[in-house]
Formats: sequence, C-alpha cells, structure tokens
Amino acid sequence: MSIDHSDNPTIFGKILRGEIPCKKVYEDAEVLAFHDIKPMAEVHFLIIPKKFIPTLAHTVADDTALLGKMLALVPVLAREQGLGDGFRTAINTGKLGGQDVYHLHIHVFGNRPGGNPLRVMSGAD
Ligand code: AMP
Repeated sequence: MSIDHSDNPTIFGKILRGEIPCKKVYEDAEVLAFHDIKPMAEVHFLIIPKKFIPTLAHTVADDTALLGKMLALVPVLAREQGLGDGFRTAINTGKLGGQDVYHLHIHVFGNRPGGNPLRVMSGAD
C-alpha cells in the first residue's frame, strides 16, 4: 500500500512528495534515507519513515516494527557509506531536544578512517 504524503507539512514531506530533490542513500516502501543538506561530519545522512510521525515522542505501539527496521538499517547503511569503523546516531526530539524538522529522523554521522571521532557532532571542539 502506498503512503499518502499530502498531510506532511515539513521539508521532508516535500522530499517524500518529490517536490524537492534529495541525495538518496536508501529507499523502500516504508523508509527513505538521504544525505543531510548541511553535513556535520564527513558522512551525515538521515533515515526517515515514510509515514508522517512528527517526533519520536509521537510514536505509538504500532510503530515498533518500523522503528526497529529504521534502527537496524543504521549499521547497514553506515557500512555502505564507509563508516565500518564506527559512527554516531542521534534523534533530536522536540523543542528542547534541538529538533528543527518535525518529521521523525535518525541522524547518522561519521568520519572515514583517519578522522577524529571526537569531532563527529560533539557540539564542542
Ligand atoms: P533536526 O535539527 O534534528 O530536526 O535536524 C534536521 C536536519 O535536516 C538538519 O541537519 C538539516 O540540515 C537537515 N535538512 C533540512 N532540510 C534538508 C533537506 N532539504 N535535505 C536534506 N537535509 C535537510
């Protein structure tokens, strides 16, 4: 069953509707992953559900399998992007959690071998 994106008011809704482009990393019927437009590490991509879920705090029991699938995709896609030695993940949630785009997303950050792990989205130099 295809997902109706018409009720998604966010910039990621525009990406899902094909109104603006993205640099795609992965796509299936439920999930899309694409490179962040303002990368905070050598590699920085986002994994989003196609279902419109504003924040992690809006998830319900029915979303458990989807959340598990998104999390399980993280190491698979990270390896494909050259992050076999490690990476950082983040889910910003709500205003005080630093969330800017209100469509649930997992950030995956990493530097390729030789990079400094402390400089991956630490927020401090
Ligand atoms: P957050 O602060 O957790 O809501 O993160 C939102 C992320 O979305 C930021 O890292 C932005 O750089 C990223 N972003 C915003 N617009 C786009 C876009 N059109 N394509 C890719 N990434 C985007």
